[in-house]
Amino acid sequence: MQISIWEKESFYAPKDVIIVGSGLVGLWCAWHLKKKDPGLSVAIVDRGIIPTGASTRNAGFACFGSVTELAEDAARFGDDNMLQLVEMRYKGLQYIRKVFNAATIDFDLCGGYELFTEKEAAQISGLEYEIERLNTLLSPITGEKKTFKQANEKIASLGLHNITHLIENKLEGYLHSGKLCQSLLQLVQSMGVTVLNAIEISGFEKRGDHIELYTNQFIPLHAGKLLICTNAFARQLLPSLDIVPARGQVLVTSPIENLPLKGTFHFDAGYYYFRNLGNRVLLGGARNKAFEEETTTELTTTNTIQQELEQFLSTYILPGYSYEITDRWSGIMGMGNEKLPIVKEVSPQVFCAVRMSGMGVALAPVIGEEIAKLLSS
Ligand SMILES: Cc1cc2nc3c(=O)[nH]c(=O)nc-3n(C[C@H](O)[C@H](O)[C@H](O)COP(=O)(O)OP(=O)(O)OC[C@H]3O[C@@H](n4cnc5c(N)ncnc54)[C@H](O)[C@@H]3O)c2cc1C
Repeated sequence: MQISIWEKESFYAPKDVIIVGSGLVGLWCAWHLKKKDPGLSVAIVDRGIIPTGASTRNAGFACFGSVTELAEDAARFGDDNMLQLVEMRYKGLQYIRKVFNAATIDFDLCGGYELFTEKEAAQISGLEYEIERLNTLLSPITGEKKTFKQANEKIASLGLHNITHLIENKLEGYLHSGKLCQSLLQLVQSMGVTVLNAIEISGFEKRGDHIELYTNQFIPLHAGKLLICTNAFARQLLPSLDIVPARGQVLVTSPIENLPLKGTFHFDAGYYYFRNLGNRVLLGGARNKAFEEETTTELTTTNTIQQELEQFLSTYILPGYSYEITDRWSGIMGMGNEKLPIVKEVSPQVFCAVRMSGMGVALAPVIGEEIAKLLSS
């Protein structure tokens, strides 16, 4: 198929910036770029019919880290790195709430919890000390003296089973991932951003003063600057980056009458996560039960993980209830040896904002701000 002159001079016209990937990171980058310079011509290109990576396939948590996650990050990467990430995530969540009203994206500051069995609680020495330490460190970020607090007395009223310890974070919430992406997509389009779907970028090259993009659909695209926001898939275009894919699988139950569960929940150092979705339970994770199998970009589900999730559901959340599993899916996260995202110029006029380490819902608005500064400097 040849391209018409009309197409060449409109949809496919050269742009100041072309963003590859219309997930949350690509979208927030477009938003910040247009906010900073409304005259900039920007296009976002995605190979999916809609964003098809993690942004519309996650659990919809609006969170900035549980006690064990932050304690582990501090031990591995140091307090400064841990706090830098918390600050970015916290600020990112404030951004989302500033740009969208709660009803548009079903945002609810419902409160979050980390849970422990008796065996786990016994293994974690100094939990109380860690809570105090993190509360002191996080207080300048959250403005709260006690971001985390023990809340064992809520275990029964939340309907949890075989759990003996609970830590509450009242600043955590959840949202509707699909509505957030769709609203942001509509918003950037209203700001003049061109969105092109079902076009896969297979490579790029600097030619003269611009970047030429190669596409699997043989559509010619030119940009002054190229921004790669393909997260877990980034090594297709930037093979030397430290990024590995990590699949996250999810299931959702049928509606359950009088479901007592309300909030976001983290278990086993964040490897399991669940929440109520109205009167249903959404549960995800268990990647640590089959690390190798889950190091993939395949957007499928597996019996191993789904059975593990069902077992978890019937042990800790819904023993004795009758329900069906109505939905199952997976999404792909981008991980690496470090937890901080990679936001940089990789070669002249080519930039990337990738490796969200499973935290991109919260990080994306702040990453977008950083990219807008970087591209205009
Ligand atoms: C199950 C699960 C649970 C999660 N829970 C949370 C959570 O509670 N809180 C949180 O903050 N984060 C969470 N995350 C992580 C969060 O969803 C991601 O970090 C975030 O969505 C990443 O956004 P992104 O835009 O960088 O990548 P993506 O959303 O993956 O977008 C990348 C886009 O690039 C496109 N693409 C890839 N290659 C090409 C190409 N060659 N050409 C054109 N287009 C291409 C893809 O189609 C895709 O749309 C979770 C993720 C999963 C999977």
